[in-house]
Amino acid sequence: MILYQRGALVCLFTVSFLLFFFPTDENFVCFTKHEPIGVCGAIIPWNLPLLMFIWKIAPALACGNTVVIKPAEQTPLTALHVGALIKEAGFPPGVVNIVPGFGPTAGAAVASHMTVDKVAFTGSTEVGQLIKEAAGRSNLKRVTLELGGKNPCIVFADSDLQLAVEEIQKGAFFNQGQACTAASRVYVQEQVYDEFVRLSVERAKNIVVGDPMDPRTSHGPQIDQRQFEKILELVSSGKEEGAKLEVGGCALKDRGLFIQPTVFSDVKDHMRIAKEEIFGPVQCIMKFKTQEEAIDRANSSEYGLTAAVFTRNVDRALSVSAALQSGTVWVNCYNALHAQAPFGGYKMSGNGRELGEYALAEYTEVKAITIKLTEQLRLI
Ligand code: ADP
Ligand code: MG
Repeated sequence: MILYQRGALVCLFTVSFLLFFFPTDENFVCFTKHEPIGVCGAIIPWNLPLLMFIWKIAPALACGNTVVIKPAEQTPLTALHVGALIKEAGFPPGVVNIVPGFGPTAGAAVASHMTVDKVAFTGSTEVGQLIKEAAGRSNLKRVTLELGGKNPCIVFADSDLQLAVEEIQKGAFFNQGQACTAASRVYVQEQVYDEFVRLSVERAKNIVVGDPMDPRTSHGPQIDQRQFEKILELVSSGKEEGAKLEVGGCALKDRGLFIQPTVFSDVKDHMRIAKEEIFGPVQCIMKFKTQEEAIDRANSSEYGLTAAVFTRNVDRALSVSAALQSGTVWVNCYNALHAQAPFGGYKMSGNGRELGEYALAEYTEVKAITIKLTEQLRLI
């Protein structure tokens, strides 16, 4: 009350929720409470099974919710192992519930359940659309989506070229390209284009492919037969549509689902490899002349998850970052994710943000409580 009369905007921590007091006209006290939403569903993919599990449950539990999480059918054991650790740590029963199963059955049940109050999904854009549809048809549960990407990197002639080559290629081949953040469209300014391609090819040739449990390797197999075939089909389309295959482009003959790190140059924007999310170790390099052209081409995608800019010019870095339609822009770095910084997509790369304080807003309901002051109360 006293705080209100001083006209100050004050926030107080209660047991677990924030209280914000707001100045109002006339004789009212108004404050908001951030409350848990309730039961939060989570549906996660196979490419980062531990990280995705934690990104979902950490903010949900921190805000006082319970969780029903469905791991991907390819990677249920990671989730179940974390489940055992959660039990061992002494979480109360029913706070974290793990439901392994397939998408159209177990996943769809979470998305359409009448007593699930929110669903957070990470996966393909196609399934993200189904999740929103299911939420709409059931109880209009809150939905956050982290979907695909076709992430542009713009390399200006004034950049540290060696750094750009290394960072972008780490971005392209991290986790065998099985990442929504994969650096899959690389626009290089014409003055340094040939050199960028040459250095990228040289680096790709030196990547050691093999058993991921062997510390000398840095490139393992793809997750399963279906993804393996999808990637090779897209690589074939690249060759057929006239991109120049510089290195890689096929599976390793003597073992399972290994695909060589692949670099295409002379890629054109209309080609399938320049438009579709490959989710495999394929780097696509394109040439550009002007900054304006690079921005237009980078933005001409239905996706908008991450982007990167390589330049030594701070003005350029800031103005290009501002122009890119993307939830994250990395300048002179790649995959630089921090737990404190929000992560999420523009356009068809998703809705909402994960990580940091922004994630907390996705796991709370806001209640405004307004009290009319009487003469008596004012005297208190
Ligand atoms: P991918 O095709 O790369 O496996 P998906 O988007 O299909 O990516 O899968 C991500 C997650 O979504 C997995 O946990 C999967 O089981 C789940 N999923 C797939 N289809 C559906 C669906 N129709 N409803 C809900 N969840 C689904
Ligand atoms: Mg799928």
